[in-house]
Amino acid sequence: VVELEDLTRTFPGPVNALTDVNLTVRSGDYLSIIGPSGSGKSTLLHILGLLDRPTSGEYRLDGLPTGTASESDRAALRGGRIGFVFQSFHLLPHRTVLDNVLLATLYSGVPRGEREQRARTALERVGLDHRVDFTPSTLSGGERQRVAIARSVVADPKLLLADEPTGNLDTKNSAGIMDLFDELHADGLTLVVITHDLAVSARAERRVRISDGRLQELA
Ligand code: ATP
Ligand code: MG
Repeated sequence: VVELEDLTRTFPGPVNALTDVNLTVRSGDYLSIIGPSGSGKSTLLHILGLLDRPTSGEYRLDGLPTGTASESDRAALRGGRIGFVFQSFHLLPHRTVLDNVLLATLYSGVPRGEREQRARTALERVGLDHRVDFTPSTLSGGERQRVAIARSVVADPKLLLADEPTGNLDTKNSAGIMDLFDELHADGLTLVVITHDLAVSARAERRVRISDGRLQELA
């Protein structure tokens, strides 16, 4: 799915956030990325998610070069193929769980009834079908992250990108999220997970480490 070739990202300063990164993520891979704070992990995830562009090098997604694509083409690629999960769940506190997931399908062109069915299915998938009418403020941290994951998979992405998905969770809740990732992976989703937590990275099939913007594959 993902091919990065000699990728570099420089910020004004200059800060060399990523240097000569080469990485291939195949369909169905489960990859974890570890590395110290400031090493370039989020920068890499933003590029993978087409939220940012490399300074140099090439990123091909499903064989399509993304460097020369327009913003609207990139947005279309992102919408159909990529889901995101972040450390803070970014849920709307005053809307129900169902609404939070439903909102992610708003611009899909799919009729409302069908969208609602998909949202309910996504919530079932994360084990929250009994919480659809609750608001996020009444849920535990682990449940909130499940809502965020349901929202990220409702459009049926091929690639799920997660940046410290268990960073705000205790051990028990983070184990639950890892179990859920295992299930999504078993269902064929390609997963890239950034984590500081070695227990989380141990669940992945492949591990890479970034230090100082340089990527290294771990055994
Ligand atoms: P953490 O584990 O703390 O989240 P990280 O590995 O995700 O760290 P990045 O956020 O990728 O680190 O940042 C890599 C480097 O790039 C850092 O030195 C950071 O200060 C710099 N950086 C990131 N985004 C920007 C930006 N928009 N403008 C300038 N510098 C940036
Ligand atoms: Mg980060």
